[in-house]
Amino acid sequence: MKNDIRDQLQRPLRDLRLSVTDRCNFRCRYCMPEEIFGPDYSFLSSDKILSFDEMERLTSIFVGLGVKKIRITGGEPLLRRNLPELIERLNQIVGVEEIAMTTNGSLLKKFAGDLYKAGLNRVTVSLDSLDEERFQALNGKRSTVKRVLEGMEAAEKAGLQVKVNMMVQKGKNDQDIVPMAKFFKEKNYILRFIEYMDVGNTNGWTKADVTSKKEILDTIHAVMPLRPVDPNYIGEVATRYQYLDGGQEIGIISSVTDSFCSNCSRARVSAEGRLYTCLFAEKGFDLRTLLRTEESDQVVASTLTDIWNLRRDRYSDERTEELRVRRRNSKVEMSHIGG
Ligand code: SAM
Ligand code: SF4
Ligand code: SF4
Repeated sequence: MKNDIRDQLQRPLRDLRLSVTDRCNFRCRYCMPEEIFGPDYSFLSSDKILSFDEMERLTSIFVGLGVKKIRITGGEPLLRRNLPELIERLNQIVGVEEIAMTTNGSLLKKFAGDLYKAGLNRVTVSLDSLDEERFQALNGKRSTVKRVLEGMEAAEKAGLQVKVNMMVQKGKNDQDIVPMAKFFKEKNYILRFIEYMDVGNTNGWTKADVTSKKEILDTIHAVMPLRPVDPNYIGEVATRYQYLDGGQEIGIISSVTDSFCSNCSRARVSAEGRLYTCLFAEKGFDLRTLLRTEESDQVVASTLTDIWNLRRDRYSDERTEELRVRRRNSKVEMSHIGG
């Protein structure tokens, strides 16, 4: 019997974001800047990250509490060895309605077929520019536009639904908004623009670096007119718009200028098994230790229930209301829990 748990703001638990590794083959300046995540940076050793058995067990317990959708993320999830095997195991859990993955796309060409066969439904591929120089400046010169586009094509060919994420940072890639919109309209992929966020403590975020939802929308609308579209479901992260000529739609994830905490039904588990009830949380709950004791699934479920029942997170709403709490130096890093 399903236990449909609610938090302090009556929000259910519906989405689980599982980070499968803290490592990444990119060094995006806004996420894992090279000078901090350099050769001496110590990533988690394999005994510190959750095993597939642990992730499978945890996911079934989460599903028993109301989770329907799973998103695999990282770091770069495709760096985790045998990832399709994990997808296959999660796909067999009764109650999992959808499995998606967010990836930088650089290894997608190699794995797309196996991921699809394993039961992955959708991929979101991050690409911040079609301009080679700007893309490489953003990703720390780790990959090329061509390689990421090939990854998307392989994913589509394999049968996966493809969406694209573009993080927009003022002065860095805002000139790419229209070229990206045109390109992906033509390709018929949903493109989602993400406002640059103050996640973690390492990217030197300032509000002046943010290109707002309104600016993004106005820029595209001036060239290719848009109209708003109703959300697909309550709690959808992106606000949707469709081109007036009937073409594909776009989405805008506006955590900074138009926050959406009231519908947030997402729990995040980092690679080492910490549970975060908000992307901007200061600290997570150590589930790994709990999973590695002899405790039953019921004990784990009641721990998760207690944590969710106490949840009051609404960081972006608080920031929008300019009630920013003084957490700047202790927030979890984006590369740690995967967005
Ligand atoms: N490595 C994978 C990737 O890049 O798609 C998955 C993890 S990454 C942390 C997930 C998403 O978070 C990416 O689309 C990335 O652009 C976005 N992201 C990372 N740091 C961000 C920031 N400071 N503001 C907005 N989006 C960010
Ligand atoms: Fe890696 Fe993704 Fe972060 Fe870029 S955004 S550094 S690809 S985890
Ligand atoms: Fe959810 Fe926290 Fe983002 Fe608000 S700020 S939408 S509570 S993750």
